Amino acid sequence: VAQRLSRKTVLVTGASSGIGRATALEFARTAADVRLIVTARRVEALEALKAEIEEVTAGKAEVLVQRLDVSDAADVKRFWGGLAAEWRDIDVLVNNAGLVKGFEHVGDIAEEDVNIMYATNVAGLINMTQAAVPIFKARNSGTIINVGSIAGREPYPGGAIYCSTKAAVRAFTESLRKELVNTRIRVSCVDPGQVETEFSVVRFRGDKAKADAVYAGVEPLTGEDIAEVIVFVAGRRENVVVADTLVFPSHQG
Ligand code: NDP
Repeated sequence: VAQRLSRKTVLVTGASSGIGRATALEFARTAADVRLIVTARRVEALEALKAEIEEVTAGKAEVLVQRLDVSDAADVKRFWGGLAAEWRDIDVLVNNAGLVKGFEHVGDIAEEDVNIMYATNVAGLINMTQAAVPIFKARNSGTIINVGSIAGREPYPGGAIYCSTKAAVRAFTESLRKELVNTRIRVSCVDPGQVETEFSVVRFRGDKAKADAVYAGVEPLTGEDIAEVIVFVAGRRENVVVADTLVFPSHQG
């Protein structure tokens, strides 16, 4: 796997915390000479990640820190337009950035919360993918890994917006994978169950007590658990597409 990922350029969205951060680190642990573009809105966190990756790889990995708000189509355009040629030709795109804002029932959800979830989880992921596909087509190789959620498969009351964004991720991934059959462009979805990250608190609008209560007495996954799966998917032989993966902690069924 180290050899397959050697010198590959991997772009991770939402790399400032949780699954995205762990994914960037896991790529570096697996192939020390990997090239990583780490993106998110919080640049200081990305700079800290870069330092950690450089330490883990003894300076072998090249890391490019880029501020990127995927929910803003103009920012996505600016980001791709500003990438130097030696970084633009990416091999792997990990569309991980995503969020949930509250669990109100339909009719009570603020319009701005609906918009931000769709702009980030769906439109952001689509815009990033649309920029990557022509790069991959020109080379006839490339890997797209979209982070969905069990929420996209098993929607629950109070989750109509978040769950439907993740169902959209799933349908988008599958359509694109089918569009690209007979090419060397792979498209995969990794759907996590419960993972303890900043997401756990963000979803309750910063209420830590509520977030902790969800995991009382159970052991959720960590970002690293999902990161290992993402790197596994990316690290298969080019002809192998791990199309769809559902990852649960053992208490979740
Ligand atoms: P975190 O909150 O820890 O991380 C979310 C990441 O997304 C952060 O790096 C954040 O960076 C980034 N992000 C949010 N909005 C934007 C934006 N507009 N533009 C760019 N980056 C953005 O949560 P997780 O690591 O848990 O979440 C990662 C993915 O996993 C999400 O898609 C989530 O839906 C999914 N998931 C999580 C589960 C869980 O239980 N934790 C379960 C199933 C799926 P910044 O704020 O710096 O921009």
